[in-house]
Amino acid sequence: PLPVIVIGAGHAGVECAFALRQAGVPQDILLIGDEPHLPYERPPLSKAMLSDALDIERVQLKPMAAFDKARITLRRGERVTRLDTVARTVDLAGGESLRYSECILATGGRARLLPGMDAAQVHAIRTLDDALRLKPELVPGQRLVVIGAGYLGLEIASTAAKLGLHVTVLENGRLMAGKASPYTEARFAALHRDAGVELFTGVSVVGCEGQPGQWRVTVNGGAAHPPATLDGAQFDADLLLVSIGALPNTELAEAAGIACHDGIEVDALCQTSAPGVYAIGDCANAHSQHGQRRCRIESVQNALFQARTVAAQLAGKPVAALRPPTFWSEQCGKRLQMAGLVLLDAPIDDHVTHTDRGWVVERFQHGVLRAVEAVDSPIDFVQKTRLIAAPLSAETPACAPLLTEPQHA
Ligand code: FAD
Repeated sequence: PLPVIVIGAGHAGVECAFALRQAGVPQDILLIGDEPHLPYERPPLSKAMLSDALDIERVQLKPMAAFDKARITLRRGERVTRLDTVARTVDLAGGESLRYSECILATGGRARLLPGMDAAQVHAIRTLDDALRLKPELVPGQRLVVIGAGYLGLEIASTAAKLGLHVTVLENGRLMAGKASPYTEARFAALHRDAGVELFTGVSVVGCEGQPGQWRVTVNGGAAHPPATLDGAQFDADLLLVSIGALPNTELAEAAGIACHDGIEVDALCQTSAPGVYAIGDCANAHSQHGQRRCRIESVQNALFQARTVAAQLAGKPVAALRPPTFWSEQCGKRLQMAGLVLLDAPIDDHVTHTDRGWVVERFQHGVLRAVEAVDSPIDFVQKTRLIAAPLSAETPACAPLLTEPQHA
């Protein structure tokens, strides 16, 4: 029989390959990834990797022996350049063409940059190589400007401040992409400022001139906090880190004629619009029955869940019940855990409780618990997450139709 081919050897791709084998899929499993390293996990790249003496082996997902034992053929440092969903082949950059029975796209995403930016000049964090390039530059006394106060930007800002750099964060919207409650957002803003980070929200970067060691960043707009008009203000920096989100790697799918919109569109079983082709992880745009909308969920838990969903299907096994998406972040010595998704355009009623070491925010909509945040309160997090409302019906007019029936708990 023809092999199952998994494209992309990140969290989603690796998990899928192993889950396929564990589920008893008889075919050869071929995992093709374009990065040179053994597959690794990304969360430490913006956390412990930058401050601790964390070696590469500690971030590896599996040792090479585990791939051999599971009879998974890992082809690393190889890029798939073309997918033909009719002939069921993938072409590699080296010229080889491989046939598949099923193909799983786990191509992830890449760091977004501002228009005109040269990736070799500025820093961004997506890959192990990015982290290895940034780490030696985090030297006490250096001036670091971080563009974007999302989770990654804030994690790195916090680490850099702790290492003794002068850190400025410029954000045009809200902290953590507006995904946290206003309470948690305000508390983290205060924690960052207390740690010495200069944090400005409500400012847009309109120019970045210079080169490594000599950057000048110009902004526009009135900073929401601190209240000031920063039109035309300039910030000088030795290091520039751009952390304004990720773009899904959809090129292969798009060129193959697969439906894409902010990611590769999939149904609740991760099937794309092409027969025998699935998409999982950061590259997949799925209908979330928790948040009642289509979205890409960039989290390890989502990557693992979707990987196992596809593996179970291909092995003819039952698919696990959908659980609320979860995410975590570490900033200013605190661990933030989040679960669930709030509905768009519905008022949110936040209930804040203080715990021994942190706080918990329960997020209700129309009297129903939709999401939970917990800071340094892992037990409360687990308990409250269990109470999050069951998935909603997927049939909402605002969302693209599902290709197949959703799997309900
Ligand atoms: P990726 O990990 O991006 O893997 C995709 C792989 O496919 C890449 O190696 C890519 O090079 C490869 N590829 C792409 N195209 C091709 C091709 N044509 N041929 C061959 N290979 C290809 N999530 C959390 O839940 N908690 C956290 O604290 C957290 N922290 C994070 C910190 C950082 C710095 C980053 C970048 C992400 C973090 N995330 C976190 C998100 C989480 O890491 C991602 O959701 C997860 O890695 C997604 O896995 P993936 O396999 O879908 O994609």
